[in-house]
Amino acid sequence: MSLDAKKNPTFLASEQQFFGKYAASVYYSLAKTFQPLRGRLIFSLFVGITARAVLLFNANIVGFWADSLCQGSVYCKNIPHTFANFSSRDFLVLLFCTVCLGFLLNCFFRVTITRYGAQSISLLYDEVTFKINRMPMSFFDVTPVGRIISRFSSDYGALFRMAGGPLGEIFSLFFDLLLILILICIASPHYAPLIVITLILNFFVYKANISRLRKERRDLSLQRSPSIAHFSETCQGYRTVRTYGKVAEFTRRFVNLADLYLAQKLRASRQGQFFAVQMNALTALLLLVTGLTGLYLVKSGAASLGSIAVAFTFVTMASSNVQQFFESLANLEEALTGAERLDNYLRLPLELGSSFPQQQSIFSSTTSIESVSEMKDVHHPTAVSVCIKNLSLRYRNDLPLVLNNISFEMFPGEKMGIVGRTGSGKSTLVQALFQLYPAEKGSILIDGQTPFPKSEDELQISLDEYRGLISYIPQESILFRGTLRENIDLPKLWSESEILDAIHAAGLSAWLDTLGNRPLDFLIEERGANISKGQKQLVSLVRCLLRQSPLVVLDEATSSIDPHSEALITESLSHFMRNRTQIIIAHRLSTLESCHSILWMEHGQVVMKGPSDKVLSAFKK
Ligand code: ATP
Ligand code: MG
Repeated sequence: MSLDAKKNPTFLASEQQFFGKYAASVYYSLAKTFQPLRGRLIFSLFVGITARAVLLFNANIVGFWADSLCQGSVYCKNIPHTFANFSSRDFLVLLFCTVCLGFLLNCFFRVTITRYGAQSISLLYDEVTFKINRMPMSFFDVTPVGRIISRFSSDYGALFRMAGGPLGEIFSLFFDLLLILILICIASPHYAPLIVITLILNFFVYKANISRLRKERRDLSLQRSPSIAHFSETCQGYRTVRTYGKVAEFTRRFVNLADLYLAQKLRASRQGQFFAVQMNALTALLLLVTGLTGLYLVKSGAASLGSIAVAFTFVTMASSNVQQFFESLANLEEALTGAERLDNYLRLPLELGSSFPQQQSIFSSTTSIESVSEMKDVHHPTAVSVCIKNLSLRYRNDLPLVLNNISFEMFPGEKMGIVGRTGSGKSTLVQALFQLYPAEKGSILIDGQTPFPKSEDELQISLDEYRGLISYIPQESILFRGTLRENIDLPKLWSESEILDAIHAAGLSAWLDTLGNRPLDFLIEERGANISKGQKQLVSLVRCLLRQSPLVVLDEATSSIDPHSEALITESLSHFMRNRTQIIIAHRLSTLESCHSILWMEHGQVVMKGPSDKVLSAFKK
């Protein structure tokens, strides 16, 4: 990478492009997807082929019937012994029975294959969802939400639609072709080469078009994400967009992106139509040749009228079947673009130390939920020591160091403040403490434990357990759509009175009184849109109090709260957090006066760590 690129790298990764044929891994993932239902799928396919055989046999019955009506004529051939004594009524009854049987079997096949197909593809969806939840933070940094949504909506949708219907159609067409070939060999072998030629010619047309169709479909998927990403970003920031009067610009940008997408959609559908026209032309040509050949064979006495009728029916069906088969195959290939893009997410490296098994098993989601520890049952010490040794970290390999050789120690129960100018790396240090980004160098130990030991004196602990030792109130508190209770205690670990105690301790009592009889049922909107920033911070504080972790990190936790409420909270906190190890980041220095020590950071480095009065007075200068 050039120096310039390093100074000003492109932050968002461009969306991965795929070229050429689909990788074997895509088919492998699909095979894995269908594996749990393979027994039922095989049975369904067996019923499917039987149904098609029964239905196609009807054409043979018609042929025998036709030949039975004109026995003795030079144009008719002898019918099999079984049907020798059949009257027209017998043929009609037989036809009725086979039609009914074929119809029922076919119904069973179509319903089951659609159901199992949809169920299997849902498994792929679940798996990708679980894996996305375990991606490293850097994935979310460089991937716009809209892009992820596009994979889960359109790409998955294309695949789901294919598995939930057209897949059964493809199998039916395939069975028909196979059986037609067999039956035509019985009825009139002269036509077998014609069917084979039909297949070969259609295959060539398909081959000539498929890579272009695949490319157009891939480009379509690529063009869709930017408009969705832009739309979702605009929705999230609509207040700012309106306040600054930029609605027109944002709309224009969206229209431009949507235009690009629609233009690509047009190109893709034009390519699809061009392919269909080629297939239609080929089918018409083949039928013409078949008709003329049939006429010649009957006239020259080389074939009977009945067998020609059967063969012509088969050839007509076969030509349109072959055409439909290859058209459906082209659609399937296009839907595989969705599988390719989901498979890509399935194979991205997971967060280091994630409780998910890594790449050796692609499908592993069943173990994941149970592995999340229930916090309430875990017994932590009251306080822990923290030791950070020569820690250096960058957010991504192509970005500069944000933490540069940081070292400090905290004794159990120490309350340490962190100060530093904006952008000095305070919040990054917290993220490093959570092991959200892998350290480039150095180590972070809580009570001598780390998920990534580098020497024998560092004890190993699982990432989930390690994170369970820390509670955190972030600079930007995130709330979700749901009741106040769900936002505080989603897994329902605490009783209502325990939650209410924590709410009172966090100074939220006055707000609670305004929420009616059942305040915990108060509905919080998406991203906490219907409550103030200070209230959001306080709800975060309640979460933190309940967790009772031995290490508590507050990143500007009281920055949006009025000084009077802050004083009250500080008092309650000192009771709740008594004896716990605390890290408090604050720009308001008065918040830090009660700390045992202060860490002063600048440009990702430690300037000073020492008693609060000494460091704070040096920092103020
Ligand atoms: P503030 O006081 O404003 O909260 P801070 O000290 O907490 O600032 P950080 O948020 O740690 O600062 O940011 C330190 C540096 O890291 C900044 O230069 C910032 O641009 C960069 N940075 C922060 N988050 C990311 C990220 N996810 N990816 C890349 N760079 C980041
Ligand atoms: Mg910060």
